[in-house]
Amino acid sequence: MTASSASPDRPAATAGSPMRVLVVEDEGKVAGALREGLEGEGYEVVVETTGEDAFFRLARDRFDVILLDLMLPGRDGLEVLTAVRRQGLDTPVVVLTARDTLQDRVIGLDAGADDYLVKPFAFAELLARIRAVGRRGRVADTGRLALDTLEIDRTTRQVARAGESIELTAKEFDLLHYLARNARQVVSRDTLAREVWRETARSTTLDNVIDVHISRLRRKIDLDQTVKLIHTVRGVGFVLREDDS
Ligand code: CA
Repeated sequence: MTASSASPDRPAATAGSPMRVLVVEDEGKVAGALREGLEGEGYEVVVETTGEDAFFRLARDRFDVILLDLMLPGRDGLEVLTAVRRQGLDTPVVVLTARDTLQDRVIGLDAGADDYLVKPFAFAELLARIRAVGRRGRVADTGRLALDTLEIDRTTRQVARAGESIELTAKEFDLLHYLARNARQVVSRDTLAREVWRETARSTTLDNVIDVHISRLRRKIDLDQTVKLIHTVRGVGFVLREDDS
């Protein structure tokens, strides 16, 4: 065994079969570097260079994670994302974008992305995101969490309020699950940035992304409910609890 193959952290190998990553990227250099880097970490990599090819690939092939460039010729990344989500595909998607504006990020998250990275990004950062989003569906976890009429099943990642099933994105689920695991305790934005978004440092942009997710969770969990569960503690963070006292 050579020194280079003895990586101390090989998530793909420890999970049994290699994790399969679909890279959708039209820039040959970037796609090649991603393929080489990911294969070096033990991932199985398929590259598609157009939105159409990615769409057809996803119709017939299964992946654990999708890395999706937004700026693609023809059908762009957001169109691909919207189309595959509409078809019920819930594979975690990390959007790779050169458009460093909050609006594009939020649009990506609204379209069903689980995370995003702004180019240029460090490869280590990409690996961390892939591990974070890929963890779901791979970890055998048991147990249910309940608060008022809210039920969260960690194994199936299903959520229901008052017996009605609620559709959440992967990130919304992670956020809700973290708040539920720490129910009745105030969770700071710093903690959410670290534990849910896997970011080492907070930023105004990330704060805004957290706010967007909180407001969407509120809409899905609390709207039309007598007992509100998601509360903002001004200047501190958020808390999941039965009342506002
Ligand atoms: Ca591109």
